Amino acid sequence: MNTNLKLNILPDKEGFFGNYGGQFLDENLKKEFQNIAEEFLKIKDDKDFNDELNYLLKNYVGRPSPVYFAKNLSKKYGTEIFLKREDLNHTGAHKINHSLGEALLAKKLGKKKIIAETGAGQHGVATATAAALMGLSCDIYMGEIDIQKEKPNVDKMKILGANVITVKSGKRTLKEAVDEAFSAYLKEYKTAIYAIGSVVGPHPFPMIVEHFQSIIGREAREQFLNLTNTLPDCVMACVGGGSNSIGIFNGFLGDENVKLYGVEPLGKGEKIGENAASITYGKDGIIHGFKCKLLQDDNGNIANAYSIASGLDYPGVGPKHCYLNQLGRAKYVTVNDKEALDAFFELSKTEGIIPALESSHAVAYAIKYAKENQNKKILVNLSGRGDKDIDFVLKQIK
Ligand SMILES: *Cc1c(COP(=O)(O)O)cnc(C)c1O
Repeated sequence: MNTNLKLNILPDKEGFFGNYGGQFLDENLKKEFQNIAEEFLKIKDDKDFNDELNYLLKNYVGRPSPVYFAKNLSKKYGTEIFLKREDLNHTGAHKINHSLGEALLAKKLGKKKIIAETGAGQHGVATATAAALMGLSCDIYMGEIDIQKEKPNVDKMKILGANVITVKSGKRTLKEAVDEAFSAYLKEYKTAIYAIGSVVGPHPFPMIVEHFQSIIGREAREQFLNLTNTLPDCVMACVGGGSNSIGIFNGFLGDENVKLYGVEPLGKGEKIGENAASITYGKDGIIHGFKCKLLQDDNGNIANAYSIASGLDYPGVGPKHCYLNQLGRAKYVTVNDKEALDAFFELSKTEGIIPALESSHAVAYAIKYAKENQNKKILVNLSGRGDKDIDFVLKQIK
């Protein structure tokens, strides 16, 4: 059992973590969302629900994912770097942890369909996988640009039986996909559930996704203690919407001496529109029904988010991260495209592990940190594997 669970910060009844989060929705939908929140709070402690979920996490996903001591990388940089191997999960990343939870929740609530958005297709594939397993129908909203860029994932979703719906509005990427998935859900909420892809959106979604991702931190803390007899000096994870990072942070929130670093994508630079570092460069604002640090232009319009890692390019960020930042419990730092790309090759060549471009941001920061802080124990959450990025990466270096 996780002894620091009591120290974890939960949102208040309206879904706020300090000033962040909440439910900025019309009244009808607010009622439905409060309903989901109540059902979820009951189900999350239900024995049958947890037995089924735990069985699947073990035998279907392959959990627990190991903590691996990256010996070669550690030696090279004069520090100890450990990797929490979420890349080894079924479907290749941490997203299956919450997708399965959300699909099981949908089934328990008697819903027939799962609606979700996807950017690079990772959340879409994980959701389509969980829907296939649970016998639910599945509509995935995806921007037209992303559909062209991410053909293998689109093909996978189709093979898994999902309907992939092309989103042609605005910039035709992730933000618009969320917009359209949301409006579809408004029409179908009686029979469908919206399975959001990260710890974002209106309450109770951040709380639900966080609950299912917290298994990363619970496992990692215990595994790290078993391996080293001590806790890490710091824990690092990349931050897009913030689900893999909150998942691993939660295992260590109560351990005051363990420093927590959220690594945001600096993309091509510091200018608004060139990055997706919402905590570092964002201002308080509202997107998709919740309040967070939000990338905005001078007129207060939501800015375009950019990162080499499509899974990170969301202009907002989970409310609990905004709160942890405000409290100073976690620090948010940045890594740019080039540094992430270098780390992608560095981990591949030193350890034989090809990381996702998203996860490469966390690896890059670990390397940067190690150069200035020798002989530390660093735990990096390796959120996913890089198979999906290979074609793209090879084009970058030509
Ligand atoms: C989607 C994704 C992310 C970013 O999402 P978070 O909610 O911030 O975790 C990070 N890594 C991988 C591999 C992803 O697929």
